[in-house]
Amino acid sequence: MGRIDFSEKLKRQIAATGPISVAHYMGQANAHYYATRDPLGAAGDFTTAPEISQMFGELVGLWLADLWIRAGRPDGACYVELGPGRGTLAADALRAMKAAGLTPPVHLVETSPVLRAAQKERVPDARWHDDVDTLPEDRPLLIVANEFFDALPVRQLARMPGGWCERMVGIDDGAFMPGAGPLVPDNLIPPHLRHAPVGSVLETSPASVAIMRALSERIAGQGGAALIIDYGHERTSIGDTLQAVRGHAYADPFANPGEHDLTVHVDFEALGDAARAGGARVSPVAAQGAFLTAMSIDLRAAALSRAAPARAGEIETARSRLVAPEQMGTLFKAMALTAPAWPEPLGF
Ligand code: SAH
Repeated sequence: MGRIDFSEKLKRQIAATGPISVAHYMGQANAHYYATRDPLGAAGDFTTAPEISQMFGELVGLWLADLWIRAGRPDGACYVELGPGRGTLAADALRAMKAAGLTPPVHLVETSPVLRAAQKERVPDARWHDDVDTLPEDRPLLIVANEFFDALPVRQLARMPGGWCERMVGIDDGAFMPGAGPLVPDNLIPPHLRHAPVGSVLETSPASVAIMRALSERIAGQGGAALIIDYGHERTSIGDTLQAVRGHAYADPFANPGEHDLTVHVDFEALGDAARAGGARVSPVAAQGAFLTAMSIDLRAAALSRAAPARAGEIETARSRLVAPEQMGTLFKAMALTAPAWPEPLGF
């Protein structure tokens, strides 16, 4: 199904049944987008940390292996990744874990058939899941999610003169058009933000909260840990962060749904609250640069450069992209969940 078909179908649906919520719009658009392409890399729409350098996945793998070793090497622990993209992070992490004595079964949560095929090339022995509900229930889970939560749908709640409203997407003159919809109960808005000025937008992601809660319950009950890395903010705050990216440039999120990646900044405070409610221990939020530096990315970069001197410049450029504050080092953040009986994680 091409662009015209998907966009037209959504327009017809809205024309027939009325405006849909921003969350519904984002969910439908991204499901179509990811199901129909591999968006990663220089020739695609955007690049992610594991595609920049093998160091990223290796340090993630070492972080998990270190916890597993200090937890007493429990039997049967599984590697779980949410939204694994091309499978690059998983392949790099599994190689590093193997060097540390850990060779876990692999479970990947991925909805896109195109990306499942890409993952199968790099991690042939994996098992795939549509969602977290079907993950193994009887063993520790070592979970990773990089740039997964930013792609999950958010509701946008807008402060209007009469109160907080659900932001909806309707059709105006043949084009998608956001606008204020029905009032929502005030208790959806954290008390300290309830009186934000008219025009303020607050984003909440019920889908993300549900997944975090589920992961946390699994970790608390089965043992294990999760490392969540994404761009976003440490505190729940006011702001419309919905953005569309296509061909490494920003686009209008309300034009051509399904043809560009729709993302939002992740609310780490909301994710942390959901995780605490599920029973796991939640780390402070660390900037990606600080986390990777604490995980000795400098030593890893030096070792790679010694092994391949001709690539030293390229390795340093990649290291700097991952950790420099003006690049990915500050906007991207990491948060860890651990089972209460497991040791404290490195890097926070
Ligand atoms: N983690 C990868 C890819 C990030 S892109 C990397 O860092 O390179 C987002 C990934 O999440 C893609 O694999 C996409 O197909 C997947 N995804 C998006 N929405 C999803 C959903 N609702 N359930 C499962 N996977 C989803």
